[in-house]
Amino acid sequence: MSVRPILTIGHPLLRREAEPVPIDEIGSAEVQGLIDDLIDTMRHANGAGLAANQIGVLHRVVVIEVKDNPRYPYKPPIPLTVAVNPVIGPIDDEMVRINEGCLSVPLRGFVERYVNVKVTYHDRHGRRHEGVVRGLTAGTWQHECDHLDGTLIVDRADPRTLATWDEYERHHRDDFVKEITGFVNRVGS
Ligand code: ZN
Repeated sequence: MSVRPILTIGHPLLRREAEPVPIDEIGSAEVQGLIDDLIDTMRHANGAGLAANQIGVLHRVVVIEVKDNPRYPYKPPIPLTVAVNPVIGPIDDEMVRINEGCLSVPLRGFVERYVNVKVTYHDRHGRRHEGVVRGLTAGTWQHECDHLDGTLIVDRADPRTLATWDEYERHHRDDFVKEITGFVNRVGS
């Protein structure tokens, strides 16, 4: 288990599509080690999630966890989730505008996300899960699954809303947190 360097925008592996993990290889030392490294690296960087591309591995694996997150204090908690070969899709056309950040991009910006999505994935024990996620949690899932397809927030963000973290905090944070807190209270996640 180790904290790995996180690739940043411009690194070609962030732009590649990751490959599915054969189900009978989920238990292998390689994949289990990758999962452990993703968790350690995400926690070390205070991320809400991390995709394997971000540490330079082209396997379709993401980890997600939100627990008193200092980068995203308005995000409702998400228990540690390991998703191997996640498949995600909207279940209706309701959208929300979320100001997102990314450990691989030194900017924040507003991205349109589906509010209600269905997810299917395998966990680290190879068990299959299927469920619906909503709200900001659905946004986090969409962000992490985008990484597996080589997509970054700058591709989806309204470019005129891009801001450094300092300028976000200075000029945009208060309005966004007020707006998104109302949304979270309404949707429940
Ligand atoms: Zn990201």
